[in-house]
This record gives sequence, structure tokens and C-alpha cells, in this order.
Amino acid sequence: MKTQYQIAIIGGGTAGIMTASQLLNKDRSLDIVIIDPADTHYYQPAWTLVGAGTYDFDKTARPMKDLIPHGVDWIKDAVTEFLPYENKIKTHKERTITYNYLIVAPGLVNDLSLIEGLEEAIDKGTVCSNYIDPKYTWQCIKNFKGGNAVFTQPTTPIKCGGAPQKIMYLAAHYFSKNKIKNANVVFATPGTVIFGIKQIADTLMKVIQRYNVDFRPQYSPVKIDSKNKIIHFKRTSVQKSIRPSLNSNDEENHEDVSMVEMPFDFLHLAPPQTAPQFIKESILVNEDGWLDVDIHSLQHKKFTNIFGLGDVAALPTAKTGAAIRKQVPVVVDNIIKMIRGQEANNRTYQGYSSCPLVTGYGKMVLAEFNYKNEFTPDPKLKMMMISDSYREHWRLWILKKYILPYLYWNKMMKGKDV
Ligand SMILES: Cc1cc2nc3c(=O)[nH]c(=O)nc-3n(C[C@H](O)[C@H](O)[C@H](O)COP(=O)(O)OP(=O)(O)OC[C@H]3O[C@@H](n4cnc5c(N)ncnc54)[C@H](O)[C@@H]3O)c2cc1C
Repeated sequence: MKTQYQIAIIGGGTAGIMTASQLLNKDRSLDIVIIDPADTHYYQPAWTLVGAGTYDFDKTARPMKDLIPHGVDWIKDAVTEFLPYENKIKTHKERTITYNYLIVAPGLVNDLSLIEGLEEAIDKGTVCSNYIDPKYTWQCIKNFKGGNAVFTQPTTPIKCGGAPQKIMYLAAHYFSKNKIKNANVVFATPGTVIFGIKQIADTLMKVIQRYNVDFRPQYSPVKIDSKNKIIHFKRTSVQKSIRPSLNSNDEENHEDVSMVEMPFDFLHLAPPQTAPQFIKESILVNEDGWLDVDIHSLQHKKFTNIFGLGDVAALPTAKTGAAIRKQVPVVVDNIIKMIRGQEANNRTYQGYSSCPLVTGYGKMVLAEFNYKNEFTPDPKLKMMMISDSYREHWRLWILKKYILPYLYWNKMMKGKDV
């Protein structure tokens, strides 16, 4: 078996496959391997719709072998260790692979142990997560007969930061359409606002009012008592106070922390998420345990022949497939430049990410933004006759449910421009 490659890619997810396809489209002679132990590749953005009973889960899965581009080798194995000074990686099946360039894209992992009681509670009774089993979420939504329907998310970074609230809007819409009496929908989040971009937040606050959602900012889930159906939150609020004894203009922030117990009859949560263990244990990470790359060039800060993108990368923007679509061309350009003996000077990734905020069946708002949290709608939306994507639109729902999955499988995975 071949063990030496020009370009090795760790992970055949959204980032790994898209990067391999675009590299080959630029230069068919490149010698590329993808290392990934998984048989199946998932289109995760549709899991929100699966959880709301409006998308077939099987359509989100495709065999990995059908997606690996022709001309790229696939080693079905998991990487376990980096030897970056020797340009080598080691795998679970005790292979050693040597590379000239390395692309690190193994995504992230759910770490249920970070919330006490979550491992025991999940996917049983009325506790579910679109991040783990969206089909079970749909079972729980259908079985809900009233009471407290609690939606929450952890304090760690998560994939698609909007996903925990999207399923909340869909569930609230479903409960009201199905006349579930006494449904008390709660959205409890560690954040201070519903969304970081004002125009989008204004729309979402109206949606929250429409569904009569009890919005609880600064609530961090810490423990689930599944036997008694109670979730425990740490509630933080920052109070500003004037210190009169000193300079009267001085302000001091006091953090008030209290514990809140909330009974639930339905609970959906995004689990805590971290980089995979072999990444966290490597010397390639920053102090928070995420892959330490330059936020504009995606080149590793210490090892110049290593690049990283996708969910694993330490980038101060939302972890989404949409972000990856804009990261891939930068990585591809930089690697091709280096192969040609030039400098990897493409630093054009500005933190673009997007969050298709489904706000009900047939309704969506499209948040697109950059590192500065500026609202940056795609000019191509005008072709869909949408000039105000910060508002709810039926046409954006069509984009989410039909157009984006089509583009993902037929264009993005094949490295074509969208
Ligand atoms: C519920 C939900 C809703 C979402 N909604 C949206 C949305 O609306 N829009 C959007 O753009 N994004 C959305 N996302 C996020 C999006 O799916 C991810 O950001 C994207 O898939 C990340 O791609 P990735 O390549 O980094 O990781 P992944 O696609 O997760 O792929 C990682 C790959 O690495 C492999 N791997 C792991 N460990 C190893 C190892 N040790 N060695 C080798 N290979 C390894 C895995 O098997 C996997 O194939 C959503 C995600 C979820 C869960």
C-alpha cells in the first residue's frame, strides 16, 4: 500500500471532499489521499428539517465511496497522531503516511460528558438532539402533549450556532398548528442576545413574540436530572454599579450567578462540542484545543505546510458548511502556490459564514456575516428576487429545503463554483 503522498487530507466531510475536488479541478496531476474511517458522509444542514418531520433522513446520507473524487485515494482509517517535524501522520491501523502538504479537516465531536446527566438522558424519554439523532427529535415533537418544551445549547462553540433555535421555531409552529394546549416553549441560551447581528435579531424577536416563546438569555445548562425531568441552569447576569467611594465615574461589573431548576416535558439541546481527541492532544492546537491556523490564510501558525479548515479550525466565526465553501478556495490557492514554489499569500478569508434561520414551516431568514459581524448578504439572492434576506421569506425556505441540498451534492462536493 502506498504511504507517501503529495497532499494528505484528514477527514472526508464537507471540508475534506470539497477541498480534494477543487484541488483536482485545478490540477489533475496532484497526488492526493483522503484518510477517513467513515462509510457514510452526511449532509448535516438538513438534519434541522429531519427533526421537524419535513425531510427524509436517508436523503442526508451518501456512501463515502461515491463522493471521494476520481483520482483521489481513500485510506479508510482514522488518524491518531501527528509527527509534523517529520511530515508524517500515524493511523489507528498502525500505518504511517508521509506528506508534502497536510490538510486537517476532521470536524468536531460531541462531548456529552460536559453536562452532568446528559449521557444517560439523551435519546430516551423526552430528551433529544438534532445533533445526535434528528429522527428521534421528530418522535419527541410528535409525542409532546403540552407542558414545558425547553430548548437550549451549551457554552462551548457548536456547529451552526443557529440550529438550536431553528428547531425551536419549527416545534413551536408545529405545536400551534396542531393546537397543543398549554405548550410553554422556552429558549434558554448562554448568550446575551438572540443573534449577534441587529437586523436579524430584530426579526427573530418578532418571531419569538409570534410563538409566545419564553426567551431566557444567560442560561447555561449544567445538569440534567432525567428521572425527575429537571434541567439545571447556571444563570449569569452582569450588573453595572457605580463605586461612589472612588472616582464617581468609575463603573464596576458584578457578575451575579445563580442556579435555576426548570422542569421539562420535552427537552432539545445541542450537546457540548470540542475538537476530536487526537487534535486536542497534538501540538497543533491553540490554548482552547482548536486547530491553530491563521484566520485569513488558514495556514497553520507554526507548520507552514499544514492547513486547516472546517469545524476543527480555531476561527472566530460560525462553524458551518457555508463558511467552508468560502474557506476551501483560499486553502486550494495557497497550496497550489506553495507547490509552484511561491508564497502562500492568499489571505482573503474574511470570516464569511451563514446561518439559514428557519423560523417556521415555509419561512426562513438568511443571516450572512463576517468576522466583524457585519451583515453581508450574497448579491446572488437578487436572482431570487430577495433584497431583504434579514426578513422571513418563503423563497428562502425553498432555498434551504430544495436548492441548497441539490447544490451541495451536485456542485459543491464536485468542487464547482456555486
Ligand atoms: C443539526 C445541524 C444543523 C446544521 N445546519 C447547517 C446549516 O444550515 N448550514 C450550514 O452551512 N451548516 C450547517 N451545519 C454545520 C455543517 O454541517 C458543518 O459545519 C460541516 O459539516 C463541517 O464540515 P467538516 O468537514 O469540518 O466536518 P464533517 O463534515 O463533520 O466531517 C468530518 C469528517 O472527518 C472524519 N474524521 C473524524 N475523525 C477523524 C480521524 N481521526 N481521522 C480521519 N478522519 C476523521 C469524519 O469521519 C468525517 O467524515 C449543521 C450541522 C448540524 C449538526
